[in-house]
Amino acid sequence: MSVNYNFDSLQSLLSVDGNINAIIIALITVGLITIITIMNYSFENILHGSHSIGYRLTFELIEAIVLAIGMVLVQHIFKAINSGDMRSWFYATTQLTLLLYSLYTMHNRIIEIMNIIAPIYIFGYRALTGYNNYLLLFAISTVMLALTVIYIYRHTDLILSSQWRFIVLQVMYGAFWWAIIWPFHKFTLSYTINMIVGFIAYMYLIRYLAKWIRNSFKNYNNLSEKVNYDELTGIRNRANFDSASKEVFNVYSKEPDVPLTIAMFDIDHFKSFNDTYGHLAGDKVLRHVATYFEHQLFKQTTRGQLFRYGGEEFVIIFRGLTADESASIIREIRNGLINDPLEYNGKELNIKVSFGVTELQESDKSFRELFSRVDKYLYESKDSGRNRMTVENKIVSFEKFF
Ligand code: GH3
Ligand code: MG
Ligand code: MG
Repeated sequence: MSVNYNFDSLQSLLSVDGNINAIIIALITVGLITIITIMNYSFENILHGSHSIGYRLTFELIEAIVLAIGMVLVQHIFKAINSGDMRSWFYATTQLTLLLYSLYTMHNRIIEIMNIIAPIYIFGYRALTGYNNYLLLFAISTVMLALTVIYIYRHTDLILSSQWRFIVLQVMYGAFWWAIIWPFHKFTLSYTINMIVGFIAYMYLIRYLAKWIRNSFKNYNNLSEKVNYDELTGIRNRANFDSASKEVFNVYSKEPDVPLTIAMFDIDHFKSFNDTYGHLAGDKVLRHVATYFEHQLFKQTTRGQLFRYGGEEFVIIFRGLTADESASIIREIRNGLINDPLEYNGKELNIKVSFGVTELQESDKSFRELFSRVDKYLYESKDSGRNRMTVENKIVSFEKFF
């Protein structure tokens, strides 16, 4: 049973072929790590706030399948470029790096189990049949590895926040693995140390790469925030409204039983704030109205979304609310705005607003029809004296309510 393996692969790494192979494998590993990181990041975003276990389990299963495919891929590539010879420390290091990296990044129960059963799956049969002398060593190292994996899974954040814990656990993870592999491929102590150092260096690079990918994603998200939110008021902007309106029309025009309401409002005589107190005061009025409506909407309903349409004009999309329900929410917010006037340089600014409110009807063929109706109602409010609301052709003066 004794096979004379040549473990001087380190030397082979110094040869031209070895170097090219190493580069190929490193590139493939980088590709796999990139895929795993992006996939995990996207799933986290999708799952954010969702507590459905079935849903989460599906994503965990997909992650585990991608990891398994990646590992099989690495195996096949190693076979191909090493003409069938799998006894390379670099091969084992790559597979261990993928397993451990996924355990840290994905924090996924299935991957924890994969980490625990991997040695049994790979060497279990051989340990039971031809290597009985080493059965005890195999059993002990497998249990120790399992405990290490469970510890990492349970204390991921703590370990990642402490460099020495991370290194200690990695050395343990690597050492138990090499103890598992040793009966089947006997190697020297110095070779083992080489492998563990290689493993640590590999993981270090991989972690650095993953951090870089995550930061790039974050920057991209910040960019999309800039594109979709208004700089002055911080609420959603016109571009955001254009895509949201398309989306709601597609959904709600197919659901005649579920109402959809749109409200549009415009600050009355806004120009006079600019003309009397200057543009900075005008900006302050805009910010005040936008944040007041945003906060109060948030307090009253999860169904209203506020957008700055342009200048001093705003739109609210009310999902699942009728025109009357939306109108009573608006009235309440509007009354709050009037009762709590904005102060500017010691003066109270009297902000008044006019509204149009309308509900999606089955006869509306496009969002544009709904939108031109709400625009018309807003102008009816303006034309009939401002500081009022027009709900489906009915003009309501707010002053009546005080
Ligand atoms: P109405 O009651 O008919 O709505 O009159 P109004 O004065 O509110 O409306 P008008 O359309 O005559 O004036 C709107 C002004 O809003 C003109 C524009 O200079 C100003 N404006 C648009 N965007 C901004 C902004 O971001 N900051 C400031 N300070 N002013 C703005
Ligand atoms: Mg105005
Ligand atoms: Mg206007």
